[in-house]
Amino acid sequence: MNKTKILIIGLDGATFDVIDPLMDKGIMPCLKSMKETGAFGKLESVIPPVTAPAWFSLASGKNPGKTGVSGFQVRTKDDFEFEYLSSRFFKGNSFWDLLNERGKTVGLVNYPMLFPPYPIKGFMVSGLGSSPEQEITYPESLKAELNQVTSGYEIRVNYSDKHYRDADDLLITDINRVLDKNVAAALHLMKTRDWDLFMVVISVTDWIQHALWKYLDPSHPLYDRGKHEKYQPEFDRFWGRVDDAIARLMEQAQPDVTCILSDHGFGPMKKAFYLNTWLQKEGYLKKKGFLKKIFERRATSDDTRKGSRLLKEKLDVQKTAAFCLEQNILLGNIYFNHAQDRPGLREEIKKKLNDLTDSSGNHIHVKMYQPEDVYWGKHTHLAPDLFIVLDDFEYSVEFRLSDRLFLDRPSNPNRTGSHRLEGIIMVQGPMISKAKIEGAHIYDIASHILYLSGVPIPEDLDGKIINNLFTPGYLESHPVVYGKPRPFVMDEGFRKKG
Ligand SMILES: [Zn+2]
Repeated sequence: MNKTKILIIGLDGATFDVIDPLMDKGIMPCLKSMKETGAFGKLESVIPPVTAPAWFSLASGKNPGKTGVSGFQVRTKDDFEFEYLSSRFFKGNSFWDLLNERGKTVGLVNYPMLFPPYPIKGFMVSGLGSSPEQEITYPESLKAELNQVTSGYEIRVNYSDKHYRDADDLLITDINRVLDKNVAAALHLMKTRDWDLFMVVISVTDWIQHALWKYLDPSHPLYDRGKHEKYQPEFDRFWGRVDDAIARLMEQAQPDVTCILSDHGFGPMKKAFYLNTWLQKEGYLKKKGFLKKIFERRATSDDTRKGSRLLKEKLDVQKTAAFCLEQNILLGNIYFNHAQDRPGLREEIKKKLNDLTDSSGNHIHVKMYQPEDVYWGKHTHLAPDLFIVLDDFEYSVEFRLSDRLFLDRPSNPNRTGSHRLEGIIMVQGPMISKAKIEGAHIYDIASHILYLSGVPIPEDLDGKIINNLFTPGYLESHPVVYGKPRPFVMDEGFRKKG
């Protein structure tokens, strides 16, 4: 039986744009050594490059057209009904379920949106989308252990909350503390449990970049020289701690194969566009009540039901033709009310957005994606009808209705960086070549995990095996084995729970 031990460390939002200079400065020696001795390259995220669908495509090995998961919320029964991504979607569809079916033991720590935890051969600790007051572990008894080894387990730092306004020192302290707790929990589980595959996701890397990007980039509207001098070293030290954590995890795990990866890249976010305000102004959206934040990033069915109910209460469902849902801040998603049956609606909106100018009359470059052009599979229709990106992600696209259409700075002073399509991947192991890999996609990862574990790859997975990832002759002596397709399934039992 194949005994390959695999360690995967996810660094949410990590980009070579940030870590390459840090490796050059000697701040990240562990990653530098991995990059020099193993395979590395850019890892392309999904469109939109948002945490929830990206980690979901990684788990399922499928593009969002096959699963319907293109955001934190998934359109379900009708055009105004949404459901939060939760383990209801993961269960039975993830690479760890396939490993389990072949007798492999899997440990998952801090996996985004994997909530509530469900029984697997191994253990599971929920990440983003859950909170430590909830049941976040399988087995349930694990939670008390994690609380003990971390003096109170923590999951989230709500970096954009008011509480962190002009409180950068507090934010950095909290981010470092949560990093330490995530790593301590992972080390403890690694040490005390058996596993064939161990995966931990570090989310704080994403949050610190959202908050501190303003101090890293002199062209940012919120740049402040004094703060740059104070916080650039803090930012660098944080990444040094991340590198040290990776070294300790690798040392403890002694894996055969190590993979470091991110769900998307990162870059500056300098301005804001109020998309629902624009849709209202153009006559596509009619409201009944004040449209503010209606969804919480909690993967519970209660929040899901409340969110959909509020959406229907606040919008005039009969008169609204198109609306943006609060899925993320970096990319506009426009959902249509198909009951209105308005032929040409998408072309009409696209034409207007093509001519979009800011409040000073400058043309804004609006890149538009239609789901059928970027997704394939039978759930493509669940995606928004149009995705829009303004000036290469430098605008946030805001859900909230406002008295203005644009803002020449970020709408929240702690959301000053945002996601980009290109994440990172680095792999090390005896069968892994020293090579730069090209064209890797986030949905390729599951296929490689199965291949390395000696488990047949269901033929409907989207992942392609990257030839130059392996040493010469390895693929010939270890042929890739495909198995029967595993169509996307939903466990109905989860819908009733909660
Ligand atoms: Zn992310």
